[in-house]
Amino acid sequence: MTTVNGGISFWYAKSGLPVPREPLPGDTTADVCIVGGGYTGLWTAYYLKKAVPFLRIVVLEQRFCGYGASGRNGGWLYNGIAGRDRYAALHGREAAVALQRAMNGTVDEVIRVAAEEGIDADIHKGGVLEVAHSPAQLARLRAFHETEVAFGEKDRLLLGAAESAARIRVAGTAGGTWTPHGARIHPVKLVQGLARTVEALGVVVHESTPVTEIRPKHAVTPFGSVRAPYVLRCTEGFTASLKGQKRSWLPMNSSMVVTEPLPREVWDTIGWEGREALGDMAHAYMYAQRTADDRIAIGGRGVPYRFGSRTDNDGRTQAATVEALREILVRFFPATGRVAIDHAWSGVLGVPRDWCATVELDRSTGLGWAGGYVGSGVATANLAARTLRDLVQMDSGQAHGTELTALPWVHHRVRRWEPEPFRWIGVHGLYAAYRGADRREQAGRSVETDRVARIADRISGRH
Ligand SMILES: Cc1cc2nc3c(=O)[nH]c(=O)nc-3n(C[C@H](O)[C@H](O)[C@H](O)COP(=O)(O)OP(=O)(O)OC[C@H]3O[C@@H](n4cnc5c(N)ncnc54)[C@H](O)[C@@H]3O)c2cc1C
Repeated sequence: MTTVNGGISFWYAKSGLPVPREPLPGDTTADVCIVGGGYTGLWTAYYLKKAVPFLRIVVLEQRFCGYGASGRNGGWLYNGIAGRDRYAALHGREAAVALQRAMNGTVDEVIRVAAEEGIDADIHKGGVLEVAHSPAQLARLRAFHETEVAFGEKDRLLLGAAESAARIRVAGTAGGTWTPHGARIHPVKLVQGLARTVEALGVVVHESTPVTEIRPKHAVTPFGSVRAPYVLRCTEGFTASLKGQKRSWLPMNSSMVVTEPLPREVWDTIGWEGREALGDMAHAYMYAQRTADDRIAIGGRGVPYRFGSRTDNDGRTQAATVEALREILVRFFPATGRVAIDHAWSGVLGVPRDWCATVELDRSTGLGWAGGYVGSGVATANLAARTLRDLVQMDSGQAHGTELTALPWVHHRVRRWEPEPFRWIGVHGLYAAYRGADRREQAGRSVETDRVARIADRISGRH
């Protein structure tokens, strides 16, 4: 059995790729123009239209809704948000606790709206289980657990090796931490359901429409421009391809593989009856889910970054990455040694120079954006969208500031990435350092995080 590589992602394998909606037919006007048809753009359209039904909203998507990370991700709908600890340092603990509380609520908000709008995205709220394999990982896991509890997660559990294995039998687990604030989803069913929902509400969605430039009150495409008082950039890992944005969020690759459906005997050795999202505490960490049709989908970094901020070719990933992910799969679950890998793919996520997600609406130009979620955008995009809605309403005089507009990630400005070749050398050096640190920690007995990884964290701005 051969492995399909690319084709956007496995999540399209059953339904097939969608036929794109009509492109922009020519110059037009709108009240709000949204660039990008992923979770951020579509949730923003959804909440704005719900709040103000007469708003004329146009979404411009270069290929089709769900072409980007929203159609390729690991399906962890969870409460992590990139940059929270830095926001605590910049704005104080209370502000960061409020951000975390908002994220916890966001997981349930996505589940609520999906149910209300009849979007069946194979959602199962089994929480998130993160496991440790080495003494150093276990020490990090305990510290991580304590930090999360201190940020308000009173319902998080610290698990011993046996308790963790009772949920999912990952070989060599030394311990785990479990939070209820997470759900497994089918990424494409969610993004396509959202696109249908916003269209039914009266939002105009044009696909096969690449935006070449965003200027105040203009989104420019080869077919004409959309003029609107508000233009919202929701392009995450593709942002660097827009004029003037080359050194904004870096397009970081993440790759995934999915197994064939596993037979009952294999599941009997693994457990995983709770369908938790599964992750680990490695520096180059993995993430996985048990799919609704009983496969394991597992992801990790692979080749982290392409020179010049280029993105992949419709999701193809490198053979070496497929092998590396298979190696993790079999190391975690030895019973999968003979299991076929049905599909491999990759996508890009947006990484800001300081690893902090942001939401912005510039009141002087009407330009807004949200993203830089690093690896945790499935839920965060929803919180960002509700925040963009409030910022637009506030700016247009229809509402006052809200709890969401006061959160510390709003109006945060990030410095730009270094020019090439320093950007490429830096990111590749960083991930080589993390992989080396993981190997040394795995082989060693020290509870200390590897020194090279600590230095890498400091240089990268990751922690
Ligand atoms: C392999 C992988 C696994 C991941 N796993 C998880 C996970 O399990 N949990 C989690 O929380 N996060 C995960 N993420 C991250 C998460 O998927 C993203 O953060 C999230 O989907 C971002 O949504 P978005 O709408 O901002 O961006 P995207 O989904 O990337 O959407 C941006 C859209 O903009 C369009 N676009 C770009 N440029 C233009 C242009 N110039 N003109 C018009 N349209 C344009 C693109 O075609 C795309 O459809 C993962 C990401 C990847 C790649």
